[in-house]
Amino acid sequence: MNITGAIGKAKTAKQVAKDPFGLLLDAAIVWIVRFFVPVPFAGELAVYFKGPLLAICGMGLVIGVTVIITSVGLIFAPVSILQSLTGSLVSTLTGGSATTIPIDALKGYLEPGFVDTDSPTVDPFGGIGQTISILTAGFHDQDYYNRFGIVHEGIDLVPTQTYYATNQAYAKTHAVIMFATTSGKTRTYTDSYGALTVDVTNNPGTLKTVYKHLNQIIVDNNASIHAGTPIGVMGKTGFATAEHLHYEVRRNQGGSWVAVNPLPYIH
Ligand SMILES: [Zn+2]
Repeated sequence: MNITGAIGKAKTAKQVAKDPFGLLLDAAIVWIVRFFVPVPFAGELAVYFKGPLLAICGMGLVIGVTVIITSVGLIFAPVSILQSLTGSLVSTLTGGSATTIPIDALKGYLEPGFVDTDSPTVDPFGGIGQTISILTAGFHDQDYYNRFGIVHEGIDLVPTQTYYATNQAYAKTHAVIMFATTSGKTRTYTDSYGALTVDVTNNPGTLKTVYKHLNQIIVDNNASIHAGTPIGVMGKTGFATAEHLHYEVRRNQGGSWVAVNPLPYIH
């Protein structure tokens, strides 16, 4: 053994005693770098610069873990949170209060229980009568007139617990979707109070249904649709204090559209 070797060995032994972990780490670095970088002394060089190298690796690890946790969190986050995120983004971009639902999920969708008809037979929430929706203001409601001084030409409806538990479009979108109760031609507009509105006039031109206060219209203007087609999302646009559907049935009487009580067309 020459003198350099002896000094080296003494130094190594001292180091093992002083910092066994550091020495193991150095050995591991040399081994790993030699494996991946087939250049002489690459391992030793890496050990010399291990401080900054370890710092960079550590930073990379922290960033990587953060990215993974964030993406996993977003993938498994409840749809409502994602919707509120995209909703607020859309609001910020447009300056409006409209929210958006994924329309693609409803492309070509027809609500089960509807049949092609010129005269409504089921509830615009889907299903029959008061199991799916509750009446909150009736046709020509006296209380409504006393409160607002306006003749109520339709009925106000909100969904029931049964609706939320059973409706398939709601399950797909987490939004309360309104369906056309008649087949016919659509008209989409904002009424004088600011309510997003859809009218559907039946094919013979004898009756039309009206849907107001929508949060979002999801049907084209002047489109020919079948009963059961998704036309909008329940909301409170225009003259409304809370989210509900204002639903009208109007009959063509000598060219003027006279409102009639929609309830017989639901039960
Ligand atoms: Zn109303």
